[in-house]
Amino acid sequence: MSYNSLNIDSIKPLINKHAKYFMRFLDLLPANLASHDCTRGTIVFFAVCGLDVLNSLDLIKAKRQHIIDWIYGNIVIPRPEERCCSGFQGTRSVMIKSDNEELLENVRCFQWGHLAMTYTSIGILVTLGDDLSRLDRKTIVDGVAAVQRNDGSFSACIDGSENDMRFVFCAAAICHMLDYWGDVSKEKMYQFIMNSLRYDFGFSQQAEGEGHGGTTYCALAALELSGQLHRVNTNVLEGIKRWCIFRQVNGFQGRPNKPADTCYSFWIGAALQILNAFHLTDYACNRSYVLETQDNIAGGFAKWPQSTTDPFHTYLGICGLTFTGEHDLAEIMPSLNISIRAYENLKRLHSKWAYQNVEDGYQGTYRNMATQLTETKISVDDDDHDLITSPLIRAQ
Ligand SMILES: [Zn+2]
Repeated sequence: MSYNSLNIDSIKPLINKHAKYFMRFLDLLPANLASHDCTRGTIVFFAVCGLDVLNSLDLIKAKRQHIIDWIYGNIVIPRPEERCCSGFQGTRSVMIKSDNEELLENVRCFQWGHLAMTYTSIGILVTLGDDLSRLDRKTIVDGVAAVQRNDGSFSACIDGSENDMRFVFCAAAICHMLDYWGDVSKEKMYQFIMNSLRYDFGFSQQAEGEGHGGTTYCALAALELSGQLHRVNTNVLEGIKRWCIFRQVNGFQGRPNKPADTCYSFWIGAALQILNAFHLTDYACNRSYVLETQDNIAGGFAKWPQSTTDPFHTYLGICGLTFTGEHDLAEIMPSLNISIRAYENLKRLHSKWAYQNVEDGYQGTYRNMATQLTETKISVDDDDHDLITSPLIRAQ
């Protein structure tokens, strides 16, 4: 029996097993996850960010550059005449190498960025300490703006998909991480989110749906990341807190009358962290439930005790445990779902970009002054044809 039959009441003795569990997904995709090949980037996200939260990133030091190069290899950049399909893909299965031009053009029709893959790819890069210098931030955000719908929601990709709160969160996370919002409408995003608030104060995927734990996290995280959480009325915030707190059974459930599930210790836990209300929950019951779902032989967490583990529930289970102050785990930033350590890397990049913008601004001002000076000289020497056409003067 590989389930927690030893009743281990701490994650500490199993940290190495959980780390090895994540590492296996970086080397191969198990047969039972083959259908997830097109979203392989998210599995790498759970593995890399999971190792980070376990303070075990050193274990993949030798693989670090390879993972970074693999992620950058998944970028799609539109050609000038193409639709705005920029972003990251989650797989290389449609990024083939061939000398056959026709084949390459045909495959090109199936290459487009996906918001969830773009969010997780950037999350992996900052977790690995990359400086994002191989990214054109504007091009990536143009791809995000291109999939925003009139109602403020977002599709996952330019080729069409569902449009709901999951992709609203991904869009907000990408723009926040790149510190650039371009043509993305925060106002429309806000209206979509608030239109999805239900009578019981849970958020649904879209208007008239059912309040849901994962969706409520996406809505609150998007509001915080877009700097709009303060716009929500205090009474409404209190109602949302109440809805979230009532989702605790021992661990947390995603909706009323559903059983507890490991991942909601993150979705609801992080939502309450964003609202500064997690302290109102029962830490011991939550922690005990999540620990019950760990596999003490092969590592990993499942959604329920005695169920099959998977990287999604393993990462979110571990993140959920960080909220209860579990020792030996790195703190995480709730609204981005990456470690505080990775978030600090990101903030350093934001400062660097802001400094570069100021520098560019100064250089732009200097260029404008030089241009005005050139034009003045040209007008003064207007009757001297040689001076006007001199490339040296134009280059001043
Ligand atoms: Zn789950």
